Amino acid sequence: MNADPILQETLIKRSQQKKRISPLNYKERLFVLTKSRLTYYEGRSEKKHKKGSIDLQKIKCAEIVKHDSSPIPCQNKYPFQLNNLPGGGWKPSEYLSEDNEEEVAEEEEEAELVLAMYDFEAQEPHDLSLIKGEEYVLLTKSDIHWWRARDKDGNEGYIPSNYVTEKKSSNLEKYEWYCKNANRSKAEYLLKSEDKEGGFLVRDSSQSGMYTVSLYTKFGGEGSIRHYHIKISETPHRLYYLAEKHLFDNIPDLIEYHQYNAAGLVTRLRYPVGRKGRHAPKTAGFSYDKWEINPSELTFMKELGSGQFGVVRLGKWRAQHKVAIKAIREGAMCEEDFIEEAKVMMKLSHPKLVQLYGVCTQQKPIYIVTEFMELGCLLNYLRQRRGQLNNEMLLSICQDVCEGMSYLETKKFIHRDLAARNCLVSESHVVKVSDFGMTRYVLDDQYTSSSGAKFPVKWSPPEVLHYSKFSSKSDVWSFGVLMWEVYNDGKMPFETKTNAEVVEFISSGFRLYRPKQASKPVYEIMNHCWHEKAEGRPCFSDLLLMINEVMEPDY
Ligand code: ADP
Repeated sequence: MNADPILQETLIKRSQQKKRISPLNYKERLFVLTKSRLTYYEGRSEKKHKKGSIDLQKIKCAEIVKHDSSPIPCQNKYPFQLNNLPGGGWKPSEYLSEDNEEEVAEEEEEAELVLAMYDFEAQEPHDLSLIKGEEYVLLTKSDIHWWRARDKDGNEGYIPSNYVTEKKSSNLEKYEWYCKNANRSKAEYLLKSEDKEGGFLVRDSSQSGMYTVSLYTKFGGEGSIRHYHIKISETPHRLYYLAEKHLFDNIPDLIEYHQYNAAGLVTRLRYPVGRKGRHAPKTAGFSYDKWEINPSELTFMKELGSGQFGVVRLGKWRAQHKVAIKAIREGAMCEEDFIEEAKVMMKLSHPKLVQLYGVCTQQKPIYIVTEFMELGCLLNYLRQRRGQLNNEMLLSICQDVCEGMSYLETKKFIHRDLAARNCLVSESHVVKVSDFGMTRYVLDDQYTSSSGAKFPVKWSPPEVLHYSKFSSKSDVWSFGVLMWEVYNDGKMPFETKTNAEVVEFISSGFRLYRPKQASKPVYEIMNHCWHEKAEGRPCFSDLLLMINEVMEPDY
């Protein structure tokens, strides 16, 4: 019989965007394949309700869908699409037609609501301003960093996707006290700078999937910080608790209880610090699809430093946003190639990468405009704080850099010159990776040729020194040397050795010694990065796990 099911399975189906403004969303559907049709239903096989169907004869092609623009929310990501139009066109109504009968109506899609975590001021007419705490309807997510949304008054425009969070009740991000990206040492920094009795935040624990409450108290004079692991009961229905007698269905309920009752904690949770103590994150460019910056909108302030490409100054964009402006010295850069690449680099956006905001290319010198980092370059930061940074802070620096590099690795973007001098430090002591990929545009043989005097030989693995073979794994080697710099207060690696001596030393299998401040497990991580063969080195996501493992556990 034609109607006998050949195969049936529950799959995640992306809803059709019938109207341009319909939000993107996904539903679980039971798909049933027979000899003649593919039909899908809502509900389970016992009690199902038909939602749509396609005549197999009408299928012109089945193709794998690339999903680089919007993440697909399921674990098994093998998205495909069936097409009934020659040439790959896509017309949902035909897809859905049931034996020339009327289209089976899809249920009205629930609008995807998001909550603004920060204020955002629209910079261009196509943007939409956000007010912290207000709700917005998502319309499209065709760009990862800029989503189209509608506010309660019906205004529509682009918003930075990292400024909003889903409104779902299980989502912690909407709470003021949740500080997702803070590790133990950042949490301590935030709580100390607020200096409020009972200041607290909730953060992801170094143990994956777990959470920690960090709490500040001035009890007994000087401020001190406790870190409490949120424990989960081993009962069939998971309950959360800090104190064994008080168990809750979810973390927000637990926090609310302890806001009024210390119940075993050193003090009650009086004052949420989390997001309040932090600045709004950087956006990928100042506005959707904007990478050319009008130089008349820049004002110049003090000089910050100078490097291979020219002088870097502090400035303001539209008299409001602090930025770093690099004026490219004539003849220092292969500008045409860089300008092309800048469009790609603008799309790299991560809390541990120095954000590229845009370029001014219609004049000479051209300018590169980036996020301003108040505490300057990591190398000077380390040298100025010689002996003052404890082990936790040192590891947290390495963790920041590793997170930024892990993001670049997922984007298949190779840094090529990772070192402490190419990382910068923010006002809140967050370390971010800078100058990624920039060596490709340097017009100076001394810098680009591995035998050149300015080539970063001391940060380079054997395959780069011998065959100029760059990869994310050559970045991993450099990361190991950067860790060594961090644990040596910014000392020059291989100290007095010349570049030629370093090549000889490394090629003979020798490695940098263990810094006094580095524990054995920390030095082991460095040594993993210095495996002779690229394929023997861990990737950045593995390194991140290793770093988390040596972080002190919370209690
Ligand atoms: P180049 O890429 O031309 O070699 P760098 O990026 O190394 O130049 O910048 C030179 C110096 O300018 C840095 O060491 C740092 O002190 C300062 N600097 C560069 N970018 C920034 C920034 N975004 N924020 C603050 N200081 C910066």
